[in-house]
Amino acid sequence: MTHATDRLRTEITARRDDLVALTQDLIRFPTLNPPGAQYREICDYLARRLGKRGFDCRMIRAQGAPGDGDRHPRWNLLARREGAVPGDCVHFNSHTDVVEVGQGWSTDPFGGEVRDGRVYGRGACDMKGGLATSIIAAEVFVDLFPEFAGAIEISATADEESGGYGGVAYLAEQGVFAPERVQHVIIPEPLNKDRICLGHRGAWWAEIETRGELAHGAMPFLGDCAVRHMGAVIEAFETRLYPAMAARRTDMPVVPEGARSSTMNINSIHGGEAEQAEDYTGLPAYCVPDSCRMVIDRRYLAEESHASVSGELRALLEDLKATRAKFDYRLEELNHVAPSMTDRAAPVVTVVAAAIREVLGRAPEYVASPGTYDQKHIDRIGRLKNCIAYGPGILELAHKPDEWVGIDDMTQSAQVMALTLAALCLGNSLGTFGGSAPSPPGV
Ligand SMILES: [Zn+2]
Repeated sequence: MTHATDRLRTEITARRDDLVALTQDLIRFPTLNPPGAQYREICDYLARRLGKRGFDCRMIRAQGAPGDGDRHPRWNLLARREGAVPGDCVHFNSHTDVVEVGQGWSTDPFGGEVRDGRVYGRGACDMKGGLATSIIAAEVFVDLFPEFAGAIEISATADEESGGYGGVAYLAEQGVFAPERVQHVIIPEPLNKDRICLGHRGAWWAEIETRGELAHGAMPFLGDCAVRHMGAVIEAFETRLYPAMAARRTDMPVVPEGARSSTMNINSIHGGEAEQAEDYTGLPAYCVPDSCRMVIDRRYLAEESHASVSGELRALLEDLKATRAKFDYRLEELNHVAPSMTDRAAPVVTVVAAAIREVLGRAPEYVASPGTYDQKHIDRIGRLKNCIAYGPGILELAHKPDEWVGIDDMTQSAQVMALTLAALCLGNSLGTFGGSAPSPPGV
C-alpha cells in the first residue's frame, strides 16, 4: 500500500462521525419529489459546507424545466475545486430529491436515526448516503493533497426521480458535462459498494388507444366496444409479444437476472366512462365504450433499437387492423431513453475497479441497471461516455419503507472514491495502488 493510500484510508476512518452527521443532516431536508421541495435549502447547506473547503459554488436554477416555478424552483448546486496544476476533472453527481414516504415506517422518515450501524430515513440509500460519501471522500482528499492536479466537482441536482429534466439534463444542456471540462463522472447511486454500474437499458413509453363506437349498453351490437378491441391487443401481447421479448437475452450485465430480457409493464389501462368522484353514489350510465387507452412501459436491451421496439409494436397493431373487424388504433410515443453503456476499459471504470480491489480485497462486479438514471443525460446531451454509477447504498432498499444506508458501507465506499481521486489527480499509475506508484506532487 502506498503512503498516499494509507493516509487517505486512515483519515476517512477518522471522519466516520462527520460522515454520519452529514448523512443525517441531508436526510432531514424533506426534499420530496413530487413536488420538488427544499431544493434551495439543501443546496444552500451544501454550498456553505463546500465553500469552506475552497469549492467555488454555483447555484443553477433550471428555469422553465418541467415542475419549475416560484413555489418549487428547481435549484441545483455545482461545486468545483481547482487543483494546483492542470489535469483531469473528476465529477461526482448526486440527486437531492427523494420519493414519497409511503406506509410501513418504524422510524421518522426525515429523522436520520442511527441504529445498528445504519442511518435510517427516506433517501438514506437513494441517495443522500452516496452524496455524503462522495463529499467526505473529496474533502479528505483535498485536505491531504491540496496540490493535486486537475479539478474536483460535486453536483447536487434536482428531479432524478422524475426524469432529471430539472437537474442533470438542464446542467448538461448548459455544457456542464462537456468532455472538454469534465473527464470522469461518478454517480453515487445505490448499486452496492462492490459493484460498478456501467449503464442502463433503454426505455420507451407509449400510449395505445383503441377506438369503437358509442351505443346503448342494452344493444351493444349497435356500437363497437373499444375495451374488447383492447382485449385483443392484450391477447396479442400474451401470445406473441411477451414470449418474443422473453426469448431475447442481452450481453449487458443487467441486475437482477430477470431484467436481462426485454420487459414491458402495462402501466395503466382505462376504457369507457370516466371514474366518478368519490362523493358520487349513483350507478354508471349504460354505454358501449368508444375509447380505451393503455400506457405501456417498455424496457429494451442494447441489442434492440428504438426503431425495432416501436416497429414491433406497430406491426402487431397493424396485424390486428388487417385481421380483426372494425379494429382501429392510435399509437403515440410519450418518452424515449436510449440504452447507455460505458466501456469496461474506460478510465473511470478501471480506476474504480482497482480501488474496490484495494479496499474490499475482491474484484468488483460489473452491472447494468434495469431502469434508467441520470447517466442518460450525461451520455446523450453531454456526450460524455466515461461515466459510471458507484455508491454505497443497497439497491433493493431504494424507495422502500425503513430505507437505510450502512455506515461501514459508506466508509469503505468513501475510501474507494478517495483512492479513485488519488489515481486520477495525483498521477498514481492507472489501475494500480500497490508498490511503485509515483509520489504525489507536494507530498
Ligand atoms: Zn437515485
